Amino acid sequence: MKYYLLFGPPGAGKGTHATVLAQRYNLKHISTGALLRAEIAAGTPLGKQAEALIADGRLVPDEVVVAMIENAFDTIKDVDGFLLDGFPRTIPQAEALDSLLQRRGEKLTGVISLMIPDEEIYRRIQGRALVDGRADDADEEIISHRIQTYHTQTEPLILYYRNRGLYHEIKGYPGSIEDVRKRVIAVVDTI
Ligand code: AMP
Repeated sequence: MKYYLLFGPPGAGKGTHATVLAQRYNLKHISTGALLRAEIAAGTPLGKQAEALIADGRLVPDEVVVAMIENAFDTIKDVDGFLLDGFPRTIPQAEALDSLLQRRGEKLTGVISLMIPDEEIYRRIQGRALVDGRADDADEEIISHRIQTYHTQTEPLILYYRNRGLYHEIKGYPGSIEDVRKRVIAVVDTI
């Protein structure tokens, strides 16, 4: 099995490029953000726990998302691998993923990182708010909290994966979606 991570700040285009990558390499795309939004929509206890944190632009507890990923690995079988989007977002999540994979005799294939400048994050997320209707996309203060969370808690993962020789960075800006898609595929084809 292949295990890819799609990494990058909010609004970098992870969701957009995940669909194409999943099809091309027969991977199951797993977005922890999308899974959490489904829990909220279904009104589950987990959804209720996550709702206030997400609405505030903060991260949900590591053990919650790690359990979601473990459950996906246990239950999804008919694919060549996984494309994790928005996970891991902290060093403890990355360590949990490492031990999860180790226990299964597997290892990470590569980290595909999409990079865009902070000003572009605002512009894209505000545009997406009009299309997707996500509450956490609609408020400038929440967006700025998410960017801050990304820089403090998630960015250290770049070094974590770079040190392991797994990190592949792609410019998510400038360029059209099609331009970026070509860059992403050119990189993933070499991994
Ligand atoms: P996303 O759809 O990836 O932008 O995620 C939306 C929100 O869900 C984030 O702002 C977090 O509050 C929460 N979330 C998603 N993935 C994770 C994760 N791996 N760890 C903690 N919180 C997460």
